[in-house]
Amino acid sequence: MRIRTLGDPALREPARRVTQFDRRLRTLRDDMLETMYDAPGVGLAGPQVGISLRVFVFDDGETGPSFVANPVLVAPDGELLEEEGCLSIPGPYHETRRSSSIMCRGQDIDGAPFEIGGEGLLARILQHETDHLDGTLYIDRLDDEGRRSVMAELRRIELGIEEPPSRDPLRRDG
Ligand SMILES: [Zn+2]
Repeated sequence: MRIRTLGDPALREPARRVTQFDRRLRTLRDDMLETMYDAPGVGLAGPQVGISLRVFVFDDGETGPSFVANPVLVAPDGELLEEEGCLSIPGPYHETRRSSSIMCRGQDIDGAPFEIGGEGLLARILQHETDHLDGTLYIDRLDDEGRRSVMAELRRIELGIEEPPSRDPLRRDG
């Protein structure tokens, strides 16, 4: 699947709830996981591949390949400022404020409700990907200076003035 990048209107549209838990949804999950690992990234949401559905896939390195439909974030706790990157804003990373721990309630591939959550990278992924389903990008959560700095770096990379930073070994892009 082609990953949409900044400027693509698909990234800004709030995604629709999943109502059909069928074979097509399984295929979508498999294709999204393949695209995510290929990128490589730690998370990928429907709108990032032009699919307006409230779904995302992720793997923080411990969960293994995972899928959530219709996620709702609950019980946010603490605050953490850490570097974040996005497959749809390829290149830059920027420190982004997130809840340090959070729970995510959603449905699995069969539509059964389940809950997943925690802290660290997993908490960050759950917040980053749920944001995508509302048309929100991590740059929206930065102050003006942070956002300008990301946009300027992105432009320098696009113009070939600057090399993209070497891939984050922790693969934080989602
Ligand atoms: Zn992203």
